[in-house]
Amino acid sequence: MTGPDADSDRNSKSDPDPELDRVTAAEIESHIVCPRQYEFEHERALSPRQSDRSLIRRRRRELLSDAIVAGLRAETDDPAERVASALERLGDRWGRQSTSSPYLVDAQEVYDQAVAREAIKSYFDEMGHEHAENAVAVDAILSYDLEGIRYEVGVDAVIERDGTALAVRYVPNFDGILNVNWYDDNIKQYRDGSKYFPRQIASFATAGLAIRSLQREYGLDARTDFAYISLVEDSRPAYRADDDVAVATEARHFRGQYEEEEGDLARLLAAKATAIVESRTDPTAAEVGFGDIRERSCSYCAYRDACPDRIRSEVSFAERTGSEPVTVEDAMRVDQAGGDSK
Ligand code: SF4
Repeated sequence: MTGPDADSDRNSKSDPDPELDRVTAAEIESHIVCPRQYEFEHERALSPRQSDRSLIRRRRRELLSDAIVAGLRAETDDPAERVASALERLGDRWGRQSTSSPYLVDAQEVYDQAVAREAIKSYFDEMGHEHAENAVAVDAILSYDLEGIRYEVGVDAVIERDGTALAVRYVPNFDGILNVNWYDDNIKQYRDGSKYFPRQIASFATAGLAIRSLQREYGLDARTDFAYISLVEDSRPAYRADDDVAVATEARHFRGQYEEEEGDLARLLAAKATAIVESRTDPTAAEVGFGDIRERSCSYCAYRDACPDRIRSEVSFAERTGSEPVTVEDAMRVDQAGGDSK
């Protein structure tokens, strides 16, 4: 898996322009996590092995965002009709996807569907109706051109307010999303190796791409913003008789963090876009160091069982007895010699 929510549908590109190289937020997210992971996802398009947990998360993300987008698009001023449109869409999609259910038991799916329905109602109650009334684009691709590259990012909605704009992306929860209260130099720490949290940096890259794209539309001085909206940040059985579950909706805005780290973010985006255009995918040559990738990114990577870089590093680590690293080829020669001596 890439950054927190870099869906395949978010990787679709707009009409080709032969003058420009094109790079998407989904590509940059996966290149930040690991250059080889980017290659597997976007250049070779290998099918990753996914855990039930990651499948459920992806399914939640797709079903919830699709249903809410249907609610935002509903041609009505009636809040109840808007919610009904979203819930109807959720029911249709849920039924169609149930043949490939990742759930172990039916009760788990029943509970998850109740959570999804409550998440939609909670979102519209807390902020969705305002978003619907001010939406200028829904399920859109934003972009800007810089130094021969077109940068593109998919967002779920763009909401106009006070002469500026807020782009939003719906996520099940904030797992893997940068906590904007952490530091004011997250990218610098990531690039100099003092802190390694690639999925969070990837989420910031997407936020930055969206803000920069909106600036092109609304002007550099406009206070354009991007927010991840967590739909199921907290869910638990409800104690009120008329609800099955209680769900909390939260928004995490990135405008302030973008202003703090704008220069470092621009340099990171340019470096990653250039590496992607030049097909540089060797993780052992990554600027953050392969040790960090191996320690952190490999552990939750869906390609770990088939990845030659990880396998080679595991063999090297296990067999290291002297100063020279042991390669896969060395290990095979050792095995061969052992077999010959029996
Ligand atoms: S297993 Fe590790 S090195 Fe291989 S693609 Fe995944 S994160 Fe990169």
